[in-house]
Amino acid sequence: MNVIIGAGLSGLSAAYHMGGGYKLLEREGEVGGLCRSVTTRGYTFDLAPHIFFTASQYVNGLVNELLNGDLIKQRRRAYIYTRGTYVEYPFEVNLHGLPQDVIDECIEGARHRPNIQPRNFMEWIKATMGEGVAKHYMVPYNEKIWKYPLEEMSLDWVAGRVPSPSVDEMVKGAQGKVEREYGPNAYFQYPRLGGTGTIPNAFAKRVKDISLNSNVLEIRPNGKRLDVLYTRNGEPKRLEADRVLSSVPLPELVKMIKTAPEEVVKASEKLVYNSLACFNIGVDREPISDKHWLYFPEKEYIFNRISFPMNLSPETTPRGKSSVVVEVTYRGAKPDPEETKERVREGLIRADILREGDELEAFDALDFKYAYVVYDLQHRGNVNLIKTYLNTIGLSSMGRFGEWEYLNMDKAILSGKRAAEEGAKK
Ligand SMILES: Cc1cc2nc3c(=O)[nH]c(=O)nc-3n(C[C@H](O)[C@H](O)[C@H](O)COP(=O)(O)OP(=O)(O)OC[C@H]3O[C@@H](n4cnc5c(N)ncnc54)[C@H](O)[C@@H]3O)c2cc1C
Repeated sequence: MNVIIGAGLSGLSAAYHMGGGYKLLEREGEVGGLCRSVTTRGYTFDLAPHIFFTASQYVNGLVNELLNGDLIKQRRRAYIYTRGTYVEYPFEVNLHGLPQDVIDECIEGARHRPNIQPRNFMEWIKATMGEGVAKHYMVPYNEKIWKYPLEEMSLDWVAGRVPSPSVDEMVKGAQGKVEREYGPNAYFQYPRLGGTGTIPNAFAKRVKDISLNSNVLEIRPNGKRLDVLYTRNGEPKRLEADRVLSSVPLPELVKMIKTAPEEVVKASEKLVYNSLACFNIGVDREPISDKHWLYFPEKEYIFNRISFPMNLSPETTPRGKSSVVVEVTYRGAKPDPEETKERVREGLIRADILREGDELEAFDALDFKYAYVVYDLQHRGNVNLIKTYLNTIGLSSMGRFGEWEYLNMDKAILSGKRAAEEGAKK
């Protein structure tokens, strides 16, 4: 028997693709992990805001089949809010509308980009976009979301994620709107009903043996097998597994294996990640924006991104009302929720999104310890070392924090599929 730990998308996908011969243990009382949604006072929010997009025909077909095609396909309306104006994403090809001195600096910078082979993210930004775009958008935005020195971040995650247009395209975009799609999510889908949580919920209907409220505490290698010790509704339990497929974040997983070698423990302690404070806001006012989401590079705003679920699917929000989700990343100590909430409200008013008198029918604070993998320069070495050891004891680590990679939903689904297939080969 195989034991799968975690009923987020990767664990559900592993179970789905395995078909049988497993037990799926999930700590929470519901499936979905990071992809859950919640409905409160008539508003449906994703726990953290999600859209679905993929280059994989297989995953696209699977998700559409699971949801009977009930997803809304739409063209991205994402903007950067800076200097009191909205610049369409990606910033570097949509400079029109910015003050002329900013446009000149960005174009000049792009023309004189350093001709270097970038060794870190900061060098990549300057070599790809030039000093002007770096100064006015890329550096302040990335410093805000990552909260990590950009000179100490690797490039492993950048390809295919951050657009890198030519100088000609930038010049054209400084003169007016460029009719070209950039980035992997130029078009995306969103479930019409129930938020992103509909996707894991639909998976769960096809999966047999899910044990909720089952918190794995320890994994003990036992000859060719693994003993999995967990509590179910507080009661101690034990399972003997031929193989374990785990989506538990690597630092937590290594702690569960008391016999893990010192170097593996040390590598797991060096993994860097960001946490996220999320605020779900319901506003008793007609739609306050026609956009999907906004990036905020300026320091005076505490948040890095805000999204409008009402524009992803109208079914998320009561008619004639508005919904906003605000994201604030942090590392280490959790910021005071009440103080952060006040800074969020004040920032939204300053950016003209909320008004002083607005009635906020919902204003809920959520927190995610593991939200973003930070690609520090030791990331690849540390992850390889840990995963090699886990493989030797018959443990496949999968998913966003099991692989310790910047995986979106589609890649999490594929990661679970791969782990299931690997297990079948052994
Ligand atoms: C802020 C944010 C925004 C995102 N936006 C997008 C987006 O727009 N589009 C997109 O495609 N992707 C997005 N993603 C990525 C997406 O959420 C992930 O790729 C996906 O949810 C990862 O699934 P997973 O199964 O790997 O992990 P998780 O969802 O974290 O699942 C892990 C599961 O393991 C369980 N677990 C942990 N420890 C134990 C234990 N000891 N015992 C038992 N169970 C345990 C957890 O409760 C959880 O259910 C976003 C992620 C974040 C954080």
